[in-house]
Amino acid sequence: MNIIIFGPPGAGKGTQSDFIVKKYNLFHLSTGDLLRDEIKKQTPLGEKISNIVNKGSLVSDEIVNTLIKNIISKKEYEKRIIFDGFPRNLSQAKNLEKILNNYNQKIDLVLKLSVSLKVIKRRIQERQTLENRADDNEATAIKRFKTYEDSTEPIIHYYKKLNILKEIDGERSIDQINKEISDIIDVK
Ligand code: AMP
Repeated sequence: MNIIIFGPPGAGKGTQSDFIVKKYNLFHLSTGDLLRDEIKKQTPLGEKISNIVNKGSLVSDEIVNTLIKNIISKKEYEKRIIFDGFPRNLSQAKNLEKILNNYNQKIDLVLKLSVSLKVIKRRIQERQTLENRADDNEATAIKRFKTYEDSTEPIIHYYKKLNILKEIDGERSIDQINKEISDIIDVK
């Protein structure tokens, strides 16, 4: 089963993905993590990405499309990917469908974690003390939240029409959210 998990930055996508990955033996594909790995390697591409990510802007579709294609093409990840942070806009969503189609696959389920900006600001502050990510500060958090809303809402609508979208209240406890997600996956 291939899954997409949506939610604004700080919604708990990483935490919930870890849980789903372990329970259902999936591969966690986070474009944010892949991009941060590239930055760590300090390649010319990494440097270019670093400037964009630290401003809270989106990296070009071309860069992320290449990164995800490298993963989808691997037999070991066939029909067992959870996409986190991708797709970020309609063009990425359509491209994802095309790539998956080429490998005889599709998206089976789309999970959307809904969390308000007020709760996000508090969580980003907490994560800043724990992980010290350069893009975790209030101004960037607000910008990333707005970018998420503006560019992701059309994709949510797209998956709603395909009838594979499940909306989840992401302001509850981690365990409650785990349970709801398991119940959804178990009947799929
Ligand atoms: P994330 O860890 O998903 O919050 O992503 C961190 C940052 O990486 C984002 O603010 C963007 O700058 C960049 N990024 C991650 N995924 C994508 C994507 N699918 N398209 C463009 N930029 C992305």
